[in-house]
Amino acid sequence: MQERLVVEAPAKINLTLNVLGKRDDGYHELETVMQQISLKDRITLCPGGEGIKVQSSSAAIPGDEANLAWQAARLMFEEFSIAAGLQICIEKNIPVGAGLAGGSTDAAAVIKGIDRLWGLHLSPERMCALGLKLGSDVPFCLVGGTALARGRGEILTALPEGPRLEMVLVKPDFQLSTAEIYQNFRLGQVKSVPDNQAFLEAWRRCDIMALAAQMKNVLESVSISRCPEVAVIKHKLGECRALASLMSGSGPSVVGLFGSREEARQAWKIMKDQYEESYLVSSYGRGD
Ligand code: ATP
Repeated sequence: MQERLVVEAPAKINLTLNVLGKRDDGYHELETVMQQISLKDRITLCPGGEGIKVQSSSAAIPGDEANLAWQAARLMFEEFSIAAGLQICIEKNIPVGAGLAGGSTDAAAVIKGIDRLWGLHLSPERMCALGLKLGSDVPFCLVGGTALARGRGEILTALPEGPRLEMVLVKPDFQLSTAEIYQNFRLGQVKSVPDNQAFLEAWRRCDIMALAAQMKNVLESVSISRCPEVAVIKHKLGECRALASLMSGSGPSVVGLFGSREEARQAWKIMKDQYEESYLVSSYGRGD
């Protein structure tokens, strides 16, 4: 058995997000394009010791059973009757409660890591089915790259490698609860929806202007009513000549898309003077 394993856990953003309706089970039916980005946590797994222990570089996430990384380890140990100790160290770089699937990606990294360390050779489908028990975004975090997601987010169609996206991510000093945003979402109040078919065609043609035109998130107005800074950041990114700017997931992080790395860097320099949590990021492919 390997002494330790380091697994990268990239954040996700939504390039489009449409809500098709509310289901009988309480979840919303989604159609969204998800993208992994270069901002990532780093998870170190060390088998040994007593029980499952979590340590993190951030005080903003739980250091006990409430941590999704801990829950992922317990799920794997129960499922595969593994009686062992495991130390999980999380280097937390992804802002918490920001619509970036920070907890889900840590959980996905632990599932992958345990699969490797214990030589389980699980199929991607099996891993996704297990991951879904922990959260709707975990299957995407396991598949990675770019994908169209339907259902609660678990029915995934992986997209081929597309254009490299150069972006600035800005997180206002505010956290939003995903559950609260969905509870307050009203389909009848949506004014503008993304055309995912048009997005996918633009993606295949690597037509950045056409895909920028579809970068819309129907949850934005609900999140803006609770965190008006989201609208301010969108406006500021526009002033920095972003081709598009949209909120990720249920927010409050906002992503601005730029025509080149250099343009993104110029915008990042301006935004980081105003928002401490501003990041220069690019899309992260399955092979990265
Ligand atoms: P969602 O996937 O619901 O969009 P998010 O990206 O908005 O989530 P997260 O950063 O995943 O938000 O945090 C959501 C909650 O999960 C927080 O209250 C946090 O304390 C909890 N949490 C548990 N484990 C983790 C973890 N490993 N990393 C981040 N948050 C975690």
